[in-house]
Amino acid sequence: MEFASQPASLPLPFSYRPLDNEGTPTSFFRKSGMLTEACLTLDRTEIALTDIQSMSRRDDHVQVLVWTEDGDDSRTLLPFPLKIYGRADLVKRQLNWMLSRRRADRHRELLESQGLGDHFRGVVCPSCQAMIDLSSFESTPQVYCEYCDTVSTLQGAERLHYEANYRLCDCCEMFSSPRKFTTVYFYYLIIFYGWHSSHSHRCPGCMRGEAWKMLAGNLVFMLGVPMACYQLIRAYSSDRIAGPFRGLHAGNLAVRRGQLRKALPIYEQILERVNVSAGLHYNLAYSLLQAGQLEQAVQAAELSLADCSNYTPSCSLLVYLYTQMGRDDQAEALRRRWGSASLTEPYGRQAVDETIN
Ligand SMILES: [Zn+2]
Ligand SMILES: [Zn+2]
Repeated sequence: MEFASQPASLPLPFSYRPLDNEGTPTSFFRKSGMLTEACLTLDRTEIALTDIQSMSRRDDHVQVLVWTEDGDDSRTLLPFPLKIYGRADLVKRQLNWMLSRRRADRHRELLESQGLGDHFRGVVCPSCQAMIDLSSFESTPQVYCEYCDTVSTLQGAERLHYEANYRLCDCCEMFSSPRKFTTVYFYYLIIFYGWHSSHSHRCPGCMRGEAWKMLAGNLVFMLGVPMACYQLIRAYSSDRIAGPFRGLHAGNLAVRRGQLRKALPIYEQILERVNVSAGLHYNLAYSLLQAGQLEQAVQAAELSLADCSNYTPSCSLLVYLYTQMGRDDQAEALRRRWGSASLTEPYGRQAVDETIN
């Protein structure tokens, strides 16, 4: 097994403010948090690492998913949204570094107790250094990290610098390069003035419509126009700096507009450049599903898993497709395989309100 050094030294102190579900701070003052080898302390509340399912991050906003006992032998996954000041990335990387190794060790010990110790296979994520448990999966050119949502090609380190920026977009749910997008509207009425701003994570394709809306909304009072122009430039210039994935945003936009014939040649051109890309095959499967071509969508999703055997988005899509087509046995086999991939819930990120027995 390959090991990478810890991202931070422990204990790791940080300051934070708790957020509500809308992302608004619920406390005026900053609170103290601490990450140690055994627990995450938020103010005076200690959360054992064994109860933490995951931590996801969007800039300085993080969400910790924590298992809580219901008292009737069932557990519920509860979200703790926080804004961490200055250290959100470090806290997340360190926490996931520990969680991933703890889970991998438990799985390895379980396999050893069954006399299957040599079945354990772990790979360190090239993007975030979490330990990815690949014991239940075939060896493929790429590997998916559930801790940072990236797909990395294991051979060819020169590709990593751009692969770390690609993941599913929060808005269109397609494989792309989402980034922070700030929407600002200024207004003033004689002596009364103000502004409204919000943040989201979205791909350049999804930025375009929002940036035009922002420009139109700011034309009356003008102050927000430079910001709107800046966002328009970001949205439209992205393809020129997208390297081997250039054209991806135009292809994704065509899919969203229902123009499959326009999107397919773009995807094919990119695939010729990059050779393997589970994310691109996922987009192909997604677009074919939108067009109602289920058989072809299944083939594309299977190609995605041939590039990256543990790519969860393609697994979820394939399970959905199999179910839609009445191929329940195949859907169940895929679910079982993902469920045994690690000792964690396979779809932890979506299971915020899920109760398990
Ligand atoms: Zn990772
Ligand atoms: Zn998008």
